[in-house]
Amino acid sequence: MNMETKKNRILVVDDSEENIDILVSLFQKDYMITAAINGKKALEIASKRPPDLILLDIMMPEMNGYEVCHKLKGNDITKNIPVIFITALSDTLDEAKAFNLGAVDYITKPFQPVITKARVRTHIELKNKTDMLETLVSLDGLTGIFNRRKFDEYLNAEWKRALRVQTHLSLILMDIDHFKQFNDHYGHATGDDCLRKVANELNNVIKRDNDFLARYGGEEFVVILPNTAINGAKHVAEVLRMAITKLNLPHEYSSAASHVSLSLGVASTIPTQTSNLPKALIEAADEMLYKSKKNGRNQVNAIEIDSC
Ligand code: GH3
Ligand code: MG
Ligand code: MG
Repeated sequence: MNMETKKNRILVVDDSEENIDILVSLFQKDYMITAAINGKKALEIASKRPPDLILLDIMMPEMNGYEVCHKLKGNDITKNIPVIFITALSDTLDEAKAFNLGAVDYITKPFQPVITKARVRTHIELKNKTDMLETLVSLDGLTGIFNRRKFDEYLNAEWKRALRVQTHLSLILMDIDHFKQFNDHYGHATGDDCLRKVANELNNVIKRDNDFLARYGGEEFVVILPNTAINGAKHVAEVLRMAITKLNLPHEYSSAASHVSLSLGVASTIPTQTSNLPKALIEAADEMLYKSKKNGRNQVNAIEIDSC
C-alpha cells in the first residue's frame, strides 16, 4: 500500500490520435498512461484493469463520451473511477450534463497545460486518499487481516454469486482454545502477539485467489471458500488446524493441547434461496464449532446443508 512509489494510472479516451499524443506527452512523466481510441475500447480497458482516472473526450463516433461515462457509472467495477471530460464543447448545458452523469471535472479544449495538470493531480490525490481509507476500513487493526465488516461484504457477494451459478459455498469458523487462560497466564500483550502470529499463519495457508480470511471477533477467525464443496472445505480446515499446531506456541494452561490450538466448524451448501441469506450458513458453522469444543477442542467438525 505504498502510494508514493507506485505510479497512478490514467486512461485517455479520444478518437483523435493527435489529441491522445498531446495528452500522453503532458502526463507520461508523472503517470502510467493507457489510451483508447473509442468508447468500446475504453470500457473494455476500464473494467479489465480499472485506472485511477479517466480523461474522456465527448464527441466521438459510435459511442460518445456521455454514453461511456453513463456505462462506467453503471458498472460496479468502474463506477468509482473519477472521470474528467476534456472536450471542445464549451456550452454550459454540456458541462452540466457531464456533471449530472457523475464526472468530477470538465476541461474545455484548447486546454491550458498547467491548469489541466493541476486539476488532474487534485483528483488523483483525492482518489488515492479514498482508496487508502477504503482499504483501512476493511482491515483489522491488530492483525492486519480483513475485518468483520469486509467479511460481511464478501460473504454477501459470494452468496449471490453461488446462488446465481449454483455452486457450493463453504465457511470455516475458528476459535482459539482456552484463550482466556492464555491471557490470564501470559498477559494481554502476549495474547495480542499470539493473535497476530495465528492470523499470519492462517493467512499463509489461505492462498487461493477467491478464498478469503478475516478476523471474525476476539479470538475467532473465519474463512470463506467459494466454489468449494464440503470435502474440500474439511481438508482446508484440517490444514489450518495443523498449521497452528506446527506453530507450536506454548500454552501450558490448555486442556486441549500443550500448544495454542484451534477448534473449527465447517459448513457447506449450494444456496437455493435469497431469503435467509448467508445467516444459516454461519449458524451451521457455529454449531459445528460448538461440537468441536464439546468433543475436546483442537479438531474439525463439518456439516453439509441441503437447502439454505
Ligand atoms: P474456548 O476454548 O471455549 O474458546 O475458551 P476461551 O477461553 O478461548 O473462550 P472465551 O470466550 O471464554 O475467552 C476468549 C478470550 O479471548 C477472552 C478475551 O479476553 C480474549 N480476547 C479477545 N480479544 C482479544 C484481543 O484482541 N487480545 C487479547 N489479548 N485477548 C483477546
Ligand atoms: Mg470465542
Ligand atoms: Mg476461544
